[in-house]
This record gives sequence, structure tokens and C-alpha cells, in this order.
Amino acid sequence: MYTINENYLNLQGSYLFSTIAKKVNAYKEEHPEANIIRLGIGDVTQPIAPAIIEALHKAVDEMGTAEGFHGYGPEQGYEFLRSVIAKEDYQARGCDINADEIFISDGAKCDIGNIQEIFGQDNVVAVCDPVYPVYVDTNVMAGRSGKFDAEKGGFENIVYMPCTEENGFVPAFPERHADLIYLCFPNNPTGEVMDKHSLQKWVDYANKNGSIIIYDAAYEAYISEEGIPHSIFECEGARTCAIEMHSFSKNAGFTGLRLGYTVIPKDLICNGTSLHSMWNRRHGTKYNGAPYIVQKAGEAVYSPEGKAQLKEQIAYYMENARIIKVGLQEAGFTAYGGVNSPYVWLKVPEGMGSWEFFDKLLNEVQVVGTPGVGFGASGEGFFRLTAFGTRENTIEALERIKKIQS
Ligand code: PLP
Repeated sequence: MYTINENYLNLQGSYLFSTIAKKVNAYKEEHPEANIIRLGIGDVTQPIAPAIIEALHKAVDEMGTAEGFHGYGPEQGYEFLRSVIAKEDYQARGCDINADEIFISDGAKCDIGNIQEIFGQDNVVAVCDPVYPVYVDTNVMAGRSGKFDAEKGGFENIVYMPCTEENGFVPAFPERHADLIYLCFPNNPTGEVMDKHSLQKWVDYANKNGSIIIYDAAYEAYISEEGIPHSIFECEGARTCAIEMHSFSKNAGFTGLRLGYTVIPKDLICNGTSLHSMWNRRHGTKYNGAPYIVQKAGEAVYSPEGKAQLKEQIAYYMENARIIKVGLQEAGFTAYGGVNSPYVWLKVPEGMGSWEFFDKLLNEVQVVGTPGVGFGASGEGFFRLTAFGTRENTIEALERIKKIQS
């Protein structure tokens, strides 16, 4: 009889978004006329920018010609895209990263999920709390987590680093040694950032303790303030302790197109073995490359027209974020994030839980957000609203939220 990977049995149900959907559907059934505004999900709503659409059309037409047809491409990604990324996202910021250290993929989520498999089974994992669930779940599947401790609200072998109001949502170093440390800034869900000085301390810590930082920079394009690093490779010494993931989803609206990349510096050597070579081997074995057409679209993100159009798109979402944050503050809420990220993290009224607040917003004013506790125990008492909606819905949602407070 075959057996299964029993680690999967340790996974905690992904109740968050399914529970939200169930509650919203139940409400809709009872109130079919209700105009529900959803500021819960992290998906973009603006159409793909014209410069990118043009590049897509051109690449599609190329594929229909004998000279322009592209079959299997290089698994690591086309040189035209790797080199423009190295130049624009790294070298232009003073980061020492070369094109051959960049691996193109069909989005950040799969790289974030897959990267753990090049590390030993006994590595100890540390994550922020609250956290994007992929870091934890993929380590649970791989058998690194141990059992779930319902009382503590976490896995016995995972080190949780609380991100709270008290520490400005920037975690302290893990309370015991961790080998793989996942960091994501600007952060989902809190919307808060880590300044360069603090990130440098993490890099120093990782180099000193023999740890690897897996840095998720999915929201880097939303950084508006000086002094906030766009990449961990802005920090000295990061080449010997960090791997970085990027996504084209939130900066360029590729959630449906799918494109991302991972940076693995050649200086990452563990007992004589190069992590870059391992990932190269893994990528070549399990992945056949992102579509040519989509990589051409990715290249257009860096064209002068593409850059100008995407700047406008990000400004649109960030104006939504401002409207949400200011609106919440006017309504008497304490709200974080929303300045360098498209997420606003609000504190629910005293004595109320995240889910209770969810129910109140849905039932009283028909606005849907995401309960903070769904991202981890330290998210209890908080609530996430996203700036990815339309302007009209964002304004209307805030008008409604102001009413529940008064
Ligand atoms: N990392 C974080 C922190 C995210 O919030 C998301 C998506 O919401 C991703 C990665 C996934 O990015 P992609 O669409 O490139 O897979």
C-alpha cells in the first residue's frame, strides 16, 4: 500500500479566505440587494499598462512567424530580462548583483515555496507573526515544523517573531537560533517597513550566526520614503547571507500574467557547496522557464513608457491607501502602514476581536476586509484593508466605515 506525505496532515486549514467567502455569501443570500465593497483581497484591479500590452501583442505576433518563434527558453530566464533586472533593480541602486544571479520564474509564490527544498531537513525556521502563510505552510509540508500547538497558536519547531505596535511591527531577533529567517518588507499584512539601518543589523546577525535570510520584496515598488531599502542587497554583507524574491504582480499588475524572480548570489556557499549551483540544478530539473511572451511583457516594465505608466498606476493605489488611512484616522481608529505599502493595518476597537470587527463591518456597512488574526496570533485585534480597490469603492467604503464609529 502506498503511503502519503504525512507532513501534510499537520497543515492548519487555510480557513481565512474561505471563512471570509462563506460569511460574505451567507450575508448576500440574506440581503441580495446589498452593495458589498471588498477591500480584503490582495489582488490588483487596474488593467495592464499600455506599454506592456503592446509588448505582449508584439511577442504574440513574433511567435506566429518562423523567425520569431520561441520554443523552450533557458530555464533561468532570457538574458534580455535578466540583464535589465540586474541593471535597473540592482546596479542602479548600487547593489552588486549580476544577471546570472537572477532566476526568472512565473511568480514569487512558487519560488518562496520551493526555496526551502535546497536546505537540510533539520534547519530551524523563523517567521514574523503575523505573516504571509506560504513561508510556514511550505515548511510544514517539508516536515520542518513539528506539531501544531493550539494553545500557543503555532508550530512547535517554528520560531515566531512577533510584530506588534510595541516594536513598530519590526521583529526582534529570534529568541533561539534559526537557520532560515523569512523577512518581508514592505510587509504583508501590516504594511509597515524596516529601515536600512535595521535591515543591516539583520544581515550582520545572519552572517554572524550562520543563518540565511529569505527576503520577500514583493511590495518594494510601493516604497515612497527615503531610507527604506528596496532590496536586502543594499546592505553590506548580504551577498553571503541572503536570497531575495521579487514579483511582477503588485508593481505591474501581473497577478494573472505571472512573472517573478529570485536572486541567489554566487557568494552563498555552505560547506563548500554553492547555493546558486543547487538552485540552478533544481530550476533546470523541475522548471522549464517562464513563457517568452510574458518575459517580453516583463522587459517592457523597464522601458521608459512602461516605467512612467506604472508610476501612475502605483500612485493611484497609493492615493487609495492615503484615503483609507486618513479616513480611518478621522473616524478615530489607529492605523498603520499605507505609506510605503498598499496595506493598511488598523487596530480594532478596544475589547473587540478581529473576527468580531469583520462581522460588524459586514453586517452594519457591508465592507469586507481581512481579520488580522488570520495571519497569526499576534494579528489578533487588527484588521487589514487593501488599497487595490477602485477609487470610487475606496471612497465609499471609508464613508461607510466613518458611520459605524459615530
Ligand atoms: N509575497 C507576498 C508577501 C505576497 O503578499 C504575495 C501575494 O500576495 C506574493 C509573494 C506572491 O506573489 P506572486 O503573485 O508573484 O506569486
